[in-house]
Amino acid sequence: MAEGKSIIVHCEASEGKLATIATELLGCGRKLADELGQELGAVLVGSGVGSLAKEAISFGADRVYVVDDRLLKDYQTDSYVSALEKVIKQATPQILLLGQTSIGRDLAPRLAFRLETVASMDCVQLAIDTTSKRLLMTKPVFGGNAQAIFTSESSPQIATVRAKAFSPLAPDTSRKGEVISIDAALDPSAIRAKVLKKVAEEVEGIKLEDAEIVIGGGRGIGSADGFKQLEELAKLLKGAVGASRPPCDNGWIPDPLLIGLTGKIVAPDLYIAIALSGSSQHMTGCSGAKTIIAINKDPEANIFREARFGVVGDWKKILPAFADKVKELVAG
Ligand SMILES: Cc1cc2nc3c(=O)[nH]c(=O)nc-3n(C[C@H](O)[C@H](O)[C@H](O)COP(=O)(O)OP(=O)(O)OC[C@H]3O[C@@H](n4cnc5c(N)ncnc54)[C@H](O)[C@@H]3O)c2cc1C
Repeated sequence: MAEGKSIIVHCEASEGKLATIATELLGCGRKLADELGQELGAVLVGSGVGSLAKEAISFGADRVYVVDDRLLKDYQTDSYVSALEKVIKQATPQILLLGQTSIGRDLAPRLAFRLETVASMDCVQLAIDTTSKRLLMTKPVFGGNAQAIFTSESSPQIATVRAKAFSPLAPDTSRKGEVISIDAALDPSAIRAKVLKKVAEEVEGIKLEDAEIVIGGGRGIGSADGFKQLEELAKLLKGAVGASRPPCDNGWIPDPLLIGLTGKIVAPDLYIAIALSGSSQHMTGCSGAKTIIAINKDPEANIFREARFGVVGDWKKILPAFADKVKELVAG
């Protein structure tokens, strides 16, 4: 595809506003666009999404492409790929960024195929090569044991970006930008799948991905009752509980609370890792935490290499004392 001089970010929306991943991508896209001296575009695809254009501009976009169609009310692979393909062929960006979400993971490879380019999935860092001015995309490889930097010659360079890898800019409502409406001219007969029912995931308390404090429990917690103690501490700290693979496999905690390579990615201010060894697959999901505290009875456990603070000992003895201290501090 002919290469233009812009960066475009696919902005997902949720509950009538830009999804957090969209604001993070705009923050990252703005930085890259400034480095290249290019414009930053945002694409909004959906039904009734036009009203979010201003928000996208306030978070850094110079131009917003809006594809607003009732056929785009629910996410459907066929209709969304076609809508985005149309925008990208019209805008010819050098770089296209999408979130590493279920939607972004579905769209990126299909778009890459249609646009005869390649997509790098699950990037955790993006930079511009100072000589070639191409995008350098860093992503975990070998099950999270190493990171590799990729680039590509074809255009647009497509990358999906992991949540919390970048921070949004503070919104500036005085920013001005251009809004361009695009008619995707969708053919209803070309949409091969239908959404029959939507089931919202039930979440008690704070969502794991949004929590500023996360308590991660491992195999050493030993039972569902053990996890109840972690939940009590999480309530005190206004945080959320997650887990490594064995507690999920054993049914001590629901599968959606798995943290790691095959689970959720969290980047809280504080991650308290209790009775988990700190496998590379687990750390892939929590290494973005600002501070890690570990409790483990094995002084050689890998988690102590990752943690800023650590307590060696049996969590069953340490946790009650820790919870009492937290209660005391919370009570002021
Ligand atoms: C392809 C692939 C994908 C995977 N994806 C994931 C993933 O997304 N997330 C994930 O977590 N894992 C994942 N795994 C599994 C991963 O390799 C590890 O097996 C898993 O993370 C180990 O969990 P753990 O640390 O809880 O258990 P263990 O490694 O068994 O560690 C238990 C720890 O608890 C400590 N302990 C035991 N009792 C106590 C006590 N009373 N007090 C204090 N400490 C105690 C022990 O010293 C030990 O360090 C994946 C594996 C593969 C192959």
